[in-house]
Amino acid sequence: MAEARPAILIVEDEPEIRHFLRASLTAEGYRVVESATGRRGTIDATTHKPDLAIVDLGLPDLDGIEVIRRIREWSPMPILVVSARGHERSKIEALDAGADDYVTKPFGVGELLARVRAALRHAVRPSEGNSVLRLEHATVDLERRRATRDGADIRLTPIEFRLVACLAKHLGRVVTHRQLLTEVWGPTHAKDTHYLRIYMKQLRDKLEADPVQPRHFQTETGVGYRLVVEE
Ligand code: CA
Repeated sequence: MAEARPAILIVEDEPEIRHFLRASLTAEGYRVVESATGRRGTIDATTHKPDLAIVDLGLPDLDGIEVIRRIREWSPMPILVVSARGHERSKIEALDAGADDYVTKPFGVGELLARVRAALRHAVRPSEGNSVLRLEHATVDLERRRATRDGADIRLTPIEFRLVACLAKHLGRVVTHRQLLTEVWGPTHAKDTHYLRIYMKQLRDKLEADPVQPRHFQTETGVGYRLVVEE
């Protein structure tokens, strides 16, 4: 059943990183297609129709963000970006262009594979009977709008529920400040990042074992937040 293995397209011009990605992914049983340029990558995406694409932002011929836009014109496949450390602006631009998540160079195998699994996995969808988030010490039932901590009912505000639901929809993946603000508060609040700081603190106080060192509601500095639930 070789065809059952997910296929991953790697669009990356640096041979060392490409080989590292190929070795890590094939060792996990994924099939791999490699493209060394942006143009080749957009063509390979249409001909191979991979289950996921990994796109480097710094490509010689075509900007990685342009590659993402071109894939997004016709495909909802998960797209994972690899980018250099400290380039928050380009990460946000890539996510807004339709990328699902990113890894920052240099990255380890463990981090890469976790991002790939999260991107391939289906998000929590209340309509499919998979609506209960199980955290270390708490649960959140997104459909029934109930939450518990150490087995006792606790109260979340409607905004808090919407924030958890929005993060759960992208479980394990980063969600930008703008995405969260637009989905939870509406487009007129897309820049009110202080709302997020306030509400994220409230959620951590209510749902994290240690709100100062959160395990579930993780901050992606300068970019957004990520909800992580152990597999
Ligand atoms: Ca590059």
